[in-house]
Amino acid sequence: MSEEAFDLVVVGAGIVGLGAAYEGLRRGLRVAVVERSAGVKGASVRNFGHVGVTGQSGEALGYALEARERWLELAAEAGFWTSQRGGAIVARGEEEQALLEQLAAERGHAQLRLHGADAIREATGAADARITGGALLPLDLQVDPREAAPAIARLLEARGVVFRWGAAALGIEPGSVTTASGTLRADAVVVAVNADVDQFFPQLAAEARLRRCGLDMLLLDWRGAPAVPHPLLTGSSMLRYSAFAGLDGAEALRERIAYEQPEMIERDVNQMVTQRPDGTLIVGDTHYRGHAVAPFQEERSFDYLLELNEQLFARRAPVLQRWQGVYASAPQEFLLADPAPGVRVASVTTGIGMTTGLGFAAHAVAGLL
Ligand SMILES: Cc1cc2nc3c(=O)[nH]c(=O)nc-3n(C[C@H](O)[C@H](O)[C@H](O)COP(=O)(O)OP(=O)(O)OC[C@H]3O[C@@H](n4cnc5c(N)ncnc54)[C@H](O)[C@@H]3O)c2cc1C
Repeated sequence: MSEEAFDLVVVGAGIVGLGAAYEGLRRGLRVAVVERSAGVKGASVRNFGHVGVTGQSGEALGYALEARERWLELAAEAGFWTSQRGGAIVARGEEEQALLEQLAAERGHAQLRLHGADAIREATGAADARITGGALLPLDLQVDPREAAPAIARLLEARGVVFRWGAAALGIEPGSVTTASGTLRADAVVVAVNADVDQFFPQLAAEARLRRCGLDMLLLDWRGAPAVPHPLLTGSSMLRYSAFAGLDGAEALRERIAYEQPEMIERDVNQMVTQRPDGTLIVGDTHYRGHAVAPFQEERSFDYLLELNEQLFARRAPVLQRWQGVYASAPQEFLLADPAPGVRVASVTTGIGMTTGLGFAAHAVAGLL
């Protein structure tokens, strides 16, 4: 059994843990990352790769703006693909249009640029006749989720961060993290295990009302179809992201969708897509919550996502892959707590960790040291 000493040990090699390790490295610390899987396999590779800055507000917007800088820095240093073309959102109806106009007035041209129906169809590849207009969101970024976090891990490893892959943390105490193959001594520990906070600190998880959220996702063969150059959001996204959901009029939109498309609300769908650099299209997503997430994905959810996608683009495409993602879910968007001296839990408790995680993790490490 080995025993090694570090300034900072991070548990979990998702985007939050990698962000914490990166911050430690920037501060000149000796850093180790303990990850139970053989690679980055959690939510951080199963998502859309949308860094959706403009959709955030309050604390999340602050983290998102900081994360945006770090994404660009890391993409340049690690050499992974990133797109700065910005995000896009289509409106299909007056409630959606009104929310876009309200946010445009609040945030200004630098963050949200309104477009008419034809222009937004042209810019996004969407073809739905119900589109009434839309907006481009220039601050949003896009990364390839399957490539970005693993590339960051490789960069950190090359810069001297010690990775213990395939090593589940079994015990976390002030000053140490125990795995089956040894103990890592640490002045400070960051626990970045997404929804698995309850495995180590059940009381903290219960107090934060932490649950798991499962999501159904699809990958389509989009060859031969018009490009989708921006991460593309829809009205259902406006019900979810706080910049829109906090506006007057969001409730009217929810009521309209509930009346016209009850299944959208029932399956808690956020209809959005991103196109990966290889041309494939990531399509999602449904949401279902509980202390545990059922592994049995409903075929109807996939059919429904495909129907919605067909309406949006007026085209069908072959399904290449289906998968389930899981993230932490709680009434607050972030869980940051110190359950023991020198031990900090950092979890993004809604589906915005790719957007905010690198900024949130930097803040978590700064506060701990
Ligand atoms: C389908 C889907 C779509 C999404 N789309 C977006 C999006 O487009 N934009 C956006 O901003 N966000 C999105 N999100 C949310 C985002 O992906 C997550 O918030 C983010 O990846 C969480 O990062 P994390 O590091 O906390 O978790 P993870 O990436 O899950 O990493 C946690 C790591 O901890 C490890 N771990 C757990 N327990 C232990 C242990 N005992 N010992 C060692 N290691 C352990 C796990 O193996 C895992 O690797 C999406 C999420 C999903 C699931």
